[in-house]
Amino acid sequence: KLYNQVQDLKGSIRVYCRVRPFLPGQPNSASSVDHIEDGTITISIPSKNGRGRKSFNFNKVFGSCSTQGEVFSDTQPLIRSVLDGYNVCIFAYGQTGSGKTYTMTGPNNLTEQSQGVNYRALGDLFLLAEQRKDIVHYDVSVQMIEIYNEQVRDLLVSDEIRSASQGLTVPDASLVRVASTCDVIDLMNLGQKNRSVGATALNDRSSRSHSCLTVHVQGRDVASGAILRGCMHLVDLAGSERVNKSEVTGDRLKESQHINKSLSALGDVISALAQKNAHVPYRNSKLTQLLQDSLGGQAKTLMFVHISPEPEAVGETISTLKFAERVS
Ligand code: ADP
Ligand code: MG
Repeated sequence: KLYNQVQDLKGSIRVYCRVRPFLPGQPNSASSVDHIEDGTITISIPSKNGRGRKSFNFNKVFGSCSTQGEVFSDTQPLIRSVLDGYNVCIFAYGQTGSGKTYTMTGPNNLTEQSQGVNYRALGDLFLLAEQRKDIVHYDVSVQMIEIYNEQVRDLLVSDEIRSASQGLTVPDASLVRVASTCDVIDLMNLGQKNRSVGATALNDRSSRSHSCLTVHVQGRDVASGAILRGCMHLVDLAGSERVNKSEVTGDRLKESQHINKSLSALGDVISALAQKNAHVPYRNSKLTQLLQDSLGGQAKTLMFVHISPEPEAVGETISTLKFAERVS
């Protein structure tokens, strides 16, 4: 019965845009967001002869006053899908400082109200699994990896083991059984700690690597013993800002070339899927290779694209929105 249910439904790609509010203490200049109406966001673009405007359409646009709860509300059906045996990818895209980590995890001083998608998704997952426990028995386990310069690192093991396992693939990354949201929070904290190893204040790697929390769910139909598997990837992408090639050299240039390459590979894959192209170029980056089974086919994809409200960021904002429009 469960298998039929899985085959009946189709995969999908949804793109949501979120605007970060101005931050406390920031000079409160005019926002580059002219207005938002349903799924359309209009950006004002300064130009020599006054101001221009450009509009972009998405499945939904969340303005700067939207709460974490509102942003998550439409994500709930995806959590149900994971328990039904689907694969799901949720991405946060945007320039550094636009609110990707805020959406996925939350602010540094986390409260229940400000918890991001990761916490809420896991909370729902365990809640739904509990509600279904007489019909399906679920096992949940997680992996946490980082992709930096096209190298995959396991974030759930200590530093020594990690360096020995270069060229790791996600199936090799440690898989940890979890029984509650608390267990996952502990692991996320460990992963965050491992992630910052080697990063100096001047070299904040978190903005230049992709981090991916993968939740694997295995359900056993209590009556028939049939097994179904679903998984959910929660991906906080590296900052999408383009760097000026004349200003950066060496490691920083290499980093930004890797980021560009992997973000455009992701864009190419999602847009090929959205257009139902026969060929989907999964092999062009580590990220798309690792997520291949969860992008396309029956899988469901949700991309949150983030923009900053500052007029100075309008160039990046436009390029973010163009990227997002291409994949939707
Ligand atoms: P990114 O991960 O894209 O680099 P962050 O999520 O770290 O950006 O956000 C940058 C700063 O803005 C952080 O201090 C964060 O707490 C704050 N911030 C981001 N989005 C929001 C929001 N929707 N509401 C309030 N503060 C936000
Ligand atoms: Mg971040």
